[in-house]
Amino acid sequence: MWLNNVLETIGNTPLIKLNKITKDIPATVLAKVDYFNPGNSIKDRMALKMVEVAEQEGKLKPGGTIIEGTSGNTGMGLALAACVKGYKCIFVTTDKQSKEKADILKAVGAEVIVCPTNVLPEDPRSYYSVAKRLGKEVPNSMYMNQYDNLANRQAHYESTGPEIWAQTEGKITHLVCTAGTGGTITGTAMYLKEKNPNIKVWAVDVYGSLLTNYFKTGNIDMSFVHPYISEGFGEDFVPQNYDMSVIDEFVQVTDKDGAVMARKIAKEEGLFCGYSAGSCIQGLMQLKASLTKDDVVVCIFHDHGSRYVGKIYNDQWMMERGFLEVKTFKDIVSGRA
Ligand code: PMP
Repeated sequence: MWLNNVLETIGNTPLIKLNKITKDIPATVLAKVDYFNPGNSIKDRMALKMVEVAEQEGKLKPGGTIIEGTSGNTGMGLALAACVKGYKCIFVTTDKQSKEKADILKAVGAEVIVCPTNVLPEDPRSYYSVAKRLGKEVPNSMYMNQYDNLANRQAHYESTGPEIWAQTEGKITHLVCTAGTGGTITGTAMYLKEKNPNIKVWAVDVYGSLLTNYFKTGNIDMSFVHPYISEGFGEDFVPQNYDMSVIDEFVQVTDKDGAVMARKIAKEEGLFCGYSAGSCIQGLMQLKASLTKDDVVVCIFHDHGSRYVGKIYNDQWMMERGFLEVKTFKDIVSGRA
């Protein structure tokens, strides 16, 4: 038996029980470990869906160019689809993203353009503006726009949600998920709430993003926006993929707490996960008080730790940011390190 191409390996990722890291939580806590996708992230699902919908709608034609503003994971998914289906890719990313992410995209044949992080989305230098402009200027191209392209959340409505429902045999009581474009949390929650409206959906955001305040007040307040280090989630605007009505709670975590937690997950569970998986579990820790032994909590682990070896998995990087104590020889000998 064989598969016809790599795209057929997308989805059907394992749901893995967390045992040590969540020992103080009475509920069963399960991780939907989406780094098992071929591009090592959950974004393979929505990337393929966006390409398929664009083909169906006649917006992407043979030999065409896929353009996207991506921090890496969406780009990887799009690049895999492009390889198999015969498209070119141009990705626009920011200088905040790990260099590894851009190198990985280039490895699978994409062009990568790096833009400054600390400019507003409307600024012509922002990666949103540059991607949009390329979409207009490059012949036979399509700007996928994962933020406002509803094929993003549709992918999770059609795959992530049904998989979690089947894997928990309908026993899931809580979904915990970091929120960026909103595609993962909204699509998955839409499906799960159709099955059981009592399921609670908790979004995890980062300090420096305006999403939590928007959820709580309905206001787009830029005073909450400041640069942050966490990658892949939090936003400085509200993408159209959100339907806030399927979300019950929003919680913000710090850059440090997410990073420290990701390292703990890797060490204690053997799950070498990305930064946002650490933030996801940190968010769960901040909201865990209401959980009981009958609850079944599913946390989404979006991507793999290999993309962060120069960052959160690098002691020097962690120490420079005050995220990790400097280890002394005495600490190592005494086993405290
Ligand atoms: N974590 C990582 C590592 C991601 O790449 C993304 C996607 N931007 C997210 C979390 C958030 O997912 P979504 O965009 O579907 O809200």
